[in-house]
Amino acid sequence: MGLVVQKYGGSSVADAEGIKRVAKRIVEAKKNGHQVVVVVSAMGDTTDELIELAEQVSPMPAGREFDMLLTAGERISMALLAMAIKSMGHKAQSFTGSQAGVITDSVHNKARIIDVTPGRIRTSIDEGNIAIVAGFQGVSQEGKNITTLGRGGSDTTAVALAAALDAEACEIYTDVDGVFTADPRVVKKAKKIDWISFEDMLELAASGSKVLLHRCVEYARRYNIPIHVRSSFSGLQGTWVSNEPRTKAEGQQVEHAIISGVAHDVSEAKVTVVGVPDKPGEAAAIFRAIANAEINIDMVVQNVSAASTGLTDISFTLPKAEGRKAIDALERMKPTIGFESLRYDDQIAKISLVGAGMKTNPGVTAGFFEALSDAGVNIELISTSEIRISVVTRADDVNEAVRAVHSAFGLDSDSDEAVVYGGTGR
Ligand code: ADP
Ligand code: ASP
Ligand code: MG
Repeated sequence: MGLVVQKYGGSSVADAEGIKRVAKRIVEAKKNGHQVVVVVSAMGDTTDELIELAEQVSPMPAGREFDMLLTAGERISMALLAMAIKSMGHKAQSFTGSQAGVITDSVHNKARIIDVTPGRIRTSIDEGNIAIVAGFQGVSQEGKNITTLGRGGSDTTAVALAAALDAEACEIYTDVDGVFTADPRVVKKAKKIDWISFEDMLELAASGSKVLLHRCVEYARRYNIPIHVRSSFSGLQGTWVSNEPRTKAEGQQVEHAIISGVAHDVSEAKVTVVGVPDKPGEAAAIFRAIANAEINIDMVVQNVSAASTGLTDISFTLPKAEGRKAIDALERMKPTIGFESLRYDDQIAKISLVGAGMKTNPGVTAGFFEALSDAGVNIELISTSEIRISVVTRADDVNEAVRAVHSAFGLDSDSDEAVVYGGTGR
């Protein structure tokens, strides 16, 4: 029996009962003969609560201190989980990200893992312990400061440790039975997917399906680590995310779906730069200012300029959390760039249809737009990749739009099988 890495999300360890329930599951894996490394998130909505607390004392908290604060959440859950396991008569030790050898760059709040040196974890498990590692955190190579990996980053910690320890499996335990064809909180008729390729999962994650973080899937694909996403509340098989389709328990081959699913995202806002002179270099200057502020943007649209004015509008979407920073950066550049004004809109949603089969099946885009129009949903921006179509709509329309598209592509299951076991969906 080999080594398994198991990751438990915040909803799985929301309270003392949850911690004890998870501890039992971990001990089961150990009893079955595995070496077990556990990555744990902060309890319930702790991270959100810590962020709110920080905002009450400072409108723009310093990155270093903010990270120091947020990592406290995972320290609480890792220590409690180790205690619970020990009280069941098994050996366990907890480790911070830094102690576990998670080395990152120096970008606070969204650091990238650049190396994993899990010597202490290896020693701990070789001595018969279950090692519990705090997710979502690391230490910067330069400066040795405590960093965090961005919201949902414990998923990435789990895959990075699985790769560094050459684990047999990486299991991501959460509050739903796997990856579904849409968020089960929105679509009761969403279907559980038995197997999904890294490629499709990457697009779903990038489009807002927070069941797995985009960076975690990227990492898993790079090191070819199959991920098993499943519920910590049930014993059911979940979803395998890997390069090759897995065979089902009954032995039959899992089919490639044309459409994998519908994702939605309400975490983005739209900035419109109004009245930009329509000449070379203007867009470059705008997006250089945004890049210098370390902000990642998503969709970009430039309108055709009105011939009479020679001015155009450029819109782009970005995480709401970066909105203030983006507006400040652009305001500072206003005299040099020479645009008229800025508009900020955080009442938007992005809805995406994902599936590799779209490359070879005509009519998918038309069907997507028809479904939205039948539901009376207006489209504001459109972007596409080879295997994804995304639109921006009003935030108020998002649930209806997701359900309409899900039905239109025949993804609805016959039963309301999608169970949500816990969590608040925050
Ligand atoms: P954890 O606390 O375990 O990290 P998250 O809240 O980050 O859990 O992710 C699980 C949630 O992701 C589910 O409760 C569900 O609402 C949401 N979700 C969004 N899209 C999907 C999808 N396609 N399949 C499954 N869950 C999804
Ligand atoms: N606790 C962190 C968050 O809420 C990391 C994680 O849960 O993965 O984003
Ligand atoms: Mg998560």
